[in-house]
Amino acid sequence: MDMRSFEEKICDIRFCRSCSISSLKRWKGWPIRDPLPLLPLIENGKCKICGGTNDLLSMNIIWLNIHGPYNTGLPDYWILKINEGKTFKKKFISKWGLPYYKFETCKRCGGLLLVSIFNPPIGWQLKKQCMKSLLSGTLIE
Ligand SMILES: [Zn+2]
Ligand SMILES: [Zn+2]
Repeated sequence: MDMRSFEEKICDIRFCRSCSISSLKRWKGWPIRDPLPLLPLIENGKCKICGGTNDLLSMNIIWLNIHGPYNTGLPDYWILKINEGKTFKKKFISKWGLPYYKFETCKRCGGLLLVSIFNPPIGWQLKKQCMKSLLSGTLIE
């Protein structure tokens, strides 16, 4: 996939800001390999989990690589960061891709399928994660 077609397909998903922040902070790992935290959506104006109304746009959540002080090679690990600065966002998209790129419909369960996209030097990588499997174990009903 080239960069232009990637950027054209970005759609903004509205997550609940207050529920998302702590989940994003806890994540540490490697893009595509490690599952992403489930972030509740703002639906009909509010979050089903906490009732909050403040949103966080999916395209403002980015991969950020962390290097140790003497590490000049591969990153030690990656984190998820919120970046709402427009200039940096554009630059970032062309660089590393987006963890919360878009949603599709899961063919197995009919629920939401989260699509992540990562652009390391070796080329684009894509991962699809069913939100249902993300939910199991984290939601108490
Ligand atoms: Zn919430
Ligand atoms: Zn599914």
